[in-house]
Amino acid sequence: MDRRKFLEIPLLGLPLLVAERTFGQAKRNPIGSSLKVKMPVVVSTWDSGITANNGAWPILSKRGGALDAVEAAGRASEDEPSCCVGLAAYPDRDGNVTLDSCIMNGNGDCGGVSFLERIKHPVSVARKVMENTPHVLLSGKGAQEFAVAQGFTLEPAVLSADAEKEWKKWLEKSKYKPEINIENKKVSQAAPYFFDDGSANHDTMGTIAMDVDGKLAGMVTTSGMAFKMRGRVGDSPIIGAGLFVDNEVGAATSSGVGEEVIRICGTHTVIEQMRFGRTPEQACREAVRRVVKRDPTKAKQLQVGFLALSKTGEIGAFAIQKGFSYSVTNSQYPKGKVFAARSWF
Ligand code: ASP
Repeated sequence: MDRRKFLEIPLLGLPLLVAERTFGQAKRNPIGSSLKVKMPVVVSTWDSGITANNGAWPILSKRGGALDAVEAAGRASEDEPSCCVGLAAYPDRDGNVTLDSCIMNGNGDCGGVSFLERIKHPVSVARKVMENTPHVLLSGKGAQEFAVAQGFTLEPAVLSADAEKEWKKWLEKSKYKPEINIENKKVSQAAPYFFDDGSANHDTMGTIAMDVDGKLAGMVTTSGMAFKMRGRVGDSPIIGAGLFVDNEVGAATSSGVGEEVIRICGTHTVIEQMRFGRTPEQACREAVRRVVKRDPTKAKQLQVGFLALSKTGEIGAFAIQKGFSYSVTNSQYPKGKVFAARSWF
C-alpha cells in the first residue's frame, strides 16, 4: 500500500502519534490520536505561539475568561516584532502594513477588522467591533476611523527597519510566492527570512483557549501575506475561515495561504467535522484534504495548517506540509510546549 492510499484510510480508531517539537528537532510523543490536556489551556499556531500563550496564561491561570485571555494573546504577539503580525510586520507590495484580525467567543459573538492601517492592536479593535457595534467586520478607512473613535492611537506610517530592508530586497525581483513555514524559520532563526529567488512569505498568529469554566474563545491577528496586492484580505479576519468557535464543540484556527482556507470555509469545516464525532486531528485533516483535493499539484507548493481544541480538552492539528507546529500552555506546560503537526505530504 502506498503512502497516499494509507493516508486515505479514515483515521478513526487508528493509533496516531503526536510529535513533540523543540525548535526543529522533532521527537515522537506517544500520546494517542490527539493530545488530551488539563483545563484551562491556551493553544496557538507555530513556535512563536509561546509568545501569544505567555500573554494569555496569566489570565487563564488566575481563573480569568477565555475571551480576555485570547485578546491578551493577540496583543502580546502584536507587541513582539519577531512574531511578525503587528505594525513591525512586512508590508504589502506598495510598502503599506495592513493588518487583519478577528475574535470570537463560544456563544457566536464575534468581531473583526481587515485592511487596517496604523493601529497597533487590531485584535482589540476587533473586540470593540464585537462589543460596540451591530456588525461583525469593519474594513480599511472605516475600521481605522472606528478605532480612533474608540480611543486607539493612530501610529506613524513607518516600516520597521527589518520590514523595510526585506521589502526593498523583494522589490528588486518582485516575485510573489508564499514561503512554506516561514513563521517557524523566522522564530527559530534556522533559516534566512528570504531565499535567493526573492520569494515572499506569510505570518499569522491564531490562538484558541478554554477557561476554567469550560468556555471557549479564539482570536487571529496577522499582517497577511507579505507583499500582497494592496487591499488583499486573507482568511484571518473572516469568521469560519481563519477562526471558528462553538462552546458545544470546540475552537479552530488556521494559518497558511488564506485564499485556500477561504475557499473551503476552513475552520467552520473543522468544527462541523468535530461536531459529528471526529477528533480535532481528524477534523483538521479533513479540511486539509479538501484543500489538497481541489488542486493537488498546487497544494505541493503551499502550506495550510489547521489547529483545533475540543470542548473536552483534546488538541489536534494537521497541515499540508511538514513544519506546521503549535504551542500549548496550561498547568502541565506552564512555560509552554511546542508540538509538531502531522502533514499530508
Ligand atoms: N493566513 C494568512 C493570510 O492568508 C497568512 C498566514 O497564515 O501566515 O493572510
